Amino acid sequence: MKPLVEISNLVKYFDIGPRQRVHAVDDVSFNIYLQEIVGLVGESGSGKSTLGKTLLGLHNKTSGSVAFAGQTLPQRYASADFRALAPKMQMIFQDPYSSLNPRMTVGEIVGEGLRLQPNLSPNQVQQQVVHWLELVGLSADHRSRYPHEFSGGQRQRIGIARALILKPEFVVCDEPISALDVSVQAQVVNLLGELTKELGLTLLFIAHDLSMVRYISDRMAVMYLGGLVEVGTSAEVFFDPKHPYTETLIASNPEADPVHERQRPSTTIQGEIPSPVNVQPGCRFANRCPRAMPHCASETPTLQPIVPVDPTSTTQRLVACHLYT
Ligand code: SF4
Repeated sequence: MKPLVEISNLVKYFDIGPRQRVHAVDDVSFNIYLQEIVGLVGESGSGKSTLGKTLLGLHNKTSGSVAFAGQTLPQRYASADFRALAPKMQMIFQDPYSSLNPRMTVGEIVGEGLRLQPNLSPNQVQQQVVHWLELVGLSADHRSRYPHEFSGGQRQRIGIARALILKPEFVVCDEPISALDVSVQAQVVNLLGELTKELGLTLLFIAHDLSMVRYISDRMAVMYLGGLVEVGTSAEVFFDPKHPYTETLIASNPEADPVHERQRPSTTIQGEIPSPVNVQPGCRFANRCPRAMPHCASETPTLQPIVPVDPTSTTQRLVACHLYT
């Protein structure tokens, strides 16, 4: 199957001073296939959001390439080529409070992207706005209200309608549930899952909550300090993690059942995530890894298949660890 999004050796560094660079995304390569949901997980500071924003051109990449539907994206977000592709690739933001303009009505926010389409009359724009508001569980009456009149869950629904009204093919969901109450997180995840199937979308779903990512995603990619360390189907990664970082991340994920959660031994990842400034060669997890070997500190493991598989498969199990080389 042909990938919808092809990411090749993508690098995003931020210069922060003389000879000092934050390695936010470092040589990331993977494909996202048509109509699949890929969950991207990792601790805070691992580079997940930067990767999502760089894919959509919200950050100019340092090097590497991103192709969408076979077309390599231009280097600069402001270019005409990029603007032509922008409606096909949208983002749902983390914070539904700050991502909506408080001075605009909900109708203006959701319909804003359509104003650039000259062939639509104001009446047609309003019809589209009502359609998308209803599709995300809101109503036509909400058009004249302002963001502060809504709950967090409702604001995220407004953000979803704003992203989807342009009929994108690929959507990056940047921690869309982390600012919401636990009680409404599942509602928003269910809505995204239903809309993805109904509209034939392809999603990169970035989140902290591994249980929620497993629930919504077809595949899961695990990121650590700017690089991918494991990729596989959600069931493979969640129930049979291979990389020591993934093992610890999943073991430290709280269980939904409070009785099981109280009974299980506490598991935390030892040590701090190292600084992403001027990262040195070697495995980036070596200082925290319970299975580190002497050569791990000097030789950088690459993400590669751990079992020989059909090269055309879309679900290759990939791990970056010397235990598998
Ligand atoms: Fe641990 Fe070495 Fe694997 Fe890194 S390469 S995760 S240090 S065993």
